[in-house]
Amino acid sequence: MKKYAEVLIVALIIFTLVVVVFVYVQSLRVRKVQNRGVYVYMYDFLDYPTPRNWTLVTDVLENAHLNMMFPLVKHWGFLYYRSDVGPLDEAYFAQITQDADPLRVLIDEAHKKQIEVHVWLMMFADGHTSTGTSRILEQHPDWAMVNFNGKSVLEEPAKGSQYWLCPSQEGPRTYLKNIIEELAQNYSIDGINFDYIRYPDENYCFCDHCKSKFMSDNGIASVNWSRDVLESGKHHDAWIAWRSQQITSFVEEVSSEARKIKPNIRISASIYPFASDAVKIFGQDWATWAKNGYVDMVNPMIYHRDYGEGVDWVRKVTTEVKRALAGTRCSLHPAVGGGLAYTRQMPAEEWVEAIKMAERGGAQGVVLFAYVCVEEAGAWEAIGRYFEDP
Ligand SMILES: [Zn+2]
Repeated sequence: MKKYAEVLIVALIIFTLVVVVFVYVQSLRVRKVQNRGVYVYMYDFLDYPTPRNWTLVTDVLENAHLNMMFPLVKHWGFLYYRSDVGPLDEAYFAQITQDADPLRVLIDEAHKKQIEVHVWLMMFADGHTSTGTSRILEQHPDWAMVNFNGKSVLEEPAKGSQYWLCPSQEGPRTYLKNIIEELAQNYSIDGINFDYIRYPDENYCFCDHCKSKFMSDNGIASVNWSRDVLESGKHHDAWIAWRSQQITSFVEEVSSEARKIKPNIRISASIYPFASDAVKIFGQDWATWAKNGYVDMVNPMIYHRDYGEGVDWVRKVTTEVKRALAGTRCSLHPAVGGGLAYTRQMPAEEWVEAIKMAERGGAQGVVLFAYVCVEEAGAWEAIGRYFEDP
């Protein structure tokens, strides 16, 4: 009888150990993200300006088990929906019959398939030399960003090719706010994604308005421009804080306007992943936006091949962003993939691996960059297979 009890105890101990090990192994398994998106151009990227067929695109997304799409409705200065506020891409709309609205068609198709639509916009970047100048800056040349040598982007485009709007002036702020309000008002969108919500680099903006507003906001009577505000200048720290505040206050205002129109709208931003350089170089203080609830979600652009890194770098950078977001309610949806030049040859397994790395870094979602890249790489099937099981 005693022997029988001993066997029973041993069996119980073994059983308990097996259960403990099983539960432990399950807890190590990383959950697949449930928010799965992709950035999409409104036209066929390789066959501009042919409009995309939204039935086909949303079929591809549905088959790949994606549930969010980010269509680019403001590409540089041009809009890809029927707007009364800003200039439309005429070559694109010339190919659309009668007065059909491509964004309305897209939203209808996406919602039929339970795919959320988060409109994606290039904010302060408003034109590129390859497509002519910025229409808005043609009308309002004084809205242009100015570099530390006093040259307007109309004279010397940023990065050699880009036209940007000044973020501190009321004119361009109101113009961009009107676009966001028009979208929130007229379309059943689920979210808004801000891209290029920053300066091109540390050389901007030194327009007359920025210079005088910086002085009056900080109570400084005279500044030796630009020496005093550049690295090691006596007002450098104040300048860095002030210029990022111009972007932060814009994000705050425009989010609050959009939420007044659509209380459940999700506000997100495509961001530079390294928090301190984001502020210093780009004036993009996303950690503050997250902390103060101005954005509901951030999409750090973690394009490993663009940076010459291996895919494990996606996990490392996601972990860093996660740490910077600790204690906030902002969710983390890394953008993975990257420029077409770097990703069109990227093996399908590496696309899936990038998604897994974002998951391991603690992401709540993932957004693929971009539809055309996944398509060119032939990776839709592999991604669909990965997302097939919950
Ligand atoms: Zn300015």
